[in-house]
Amino acid sequence: MPLTTLSQSCLQDYADCAQRFQLRWLEELAYPAIEAEPALENEQHALEGERFHRLAQQSLLGIPPEKLTPLANTPNLQRWWEHFLAACLFPQPPQALYPEISLSAPLPPYRLVAKFDLIARLPDGNFLIYDWKTYRKRPRNEFLAIRWQTRVYRALLARAGHCLNQGQAIAPEQITMVYWFADFPTESAFFPYTTAQYHRDWDALQTLAAEISSASAFPRTEDEQKCTWCIYRSYCNRGIQAGSGEPEEADFQTEFDPEQIGEIAF
Ligand code: SF4
Repeated sequence: MPLTTLSQSCLQDYADCAQRFQLRWLEELAYPAIEAEPALENEQHALEGERFHRLAQQSLLGIPPEKLTPLANTPNLQRWWEHFLAACLFPQPPQALYPEISLSAPLPPYRLVAKFDLIARLPDGNFLIYDWKTYRKRPRNEFLAIRWQTRVYRALLARAGHCLNQGQAIAPEQITMVYWFADFPTESAFFPYTTAQYHRDWDALQTLAAEISSASAFPRTEDEQKCTWCIYRSYCNRGIQAGSGEPEEADFQTEFDPEQIGEIAF
């Protein structure tokens, strides 16, 4: 199947390593190697992250905590869930909440897509984009600011968010992206937006889409540090043994992807 959509995940892969982009998104190769040691513990952490996202989604849809709390049944989940319930997420009571909402817009020759953990519309007309992170380390703001997720989510809300704003376009200055860290609940990262940033981001996205669509080669990254955590190491002869622990900037490729979230049973 030819690639028809671009998401922040595939753009980040392309930025990190064009070969990884090719293997994952064009050839759709299954993960041939574990990402980090100890494997079982990391797999468990990823699963808990997925379950936490589902709990947050169901809570925001109005399911009472007493029905959801029994599902937070591991030490990590219990801690994250307690932090979530105690969190003061909004600076003012939101006018509308849109958990797990998808937006898309044409980005020729593709469509740019994103599934947001939460978009909140505030009474003052501003919009907050929330993304829940279950990292074991709190990444630096400088690292998050340049991630494609931060750029794509804000640009897409400005581009395609009129459906959440009574048909009116949302100005970039009305948008702030917030990363909320389940293990660092008082250390959220805030990224406001400006029209200048929006134009810069959209221009960059258009350039990248054109480049990807016309690329004839997808070379391996020269930064072999990126291979330490890459699940395609064996394809590239870039090592057999996974790195141990967690990447310095917490960028597991297999970090829970909310675009794959399903229904929760309770
Ligand atoms: S192992 Fe290295 S070169 Fe190969 S896909 Fe992964 S990051 Fe790219």
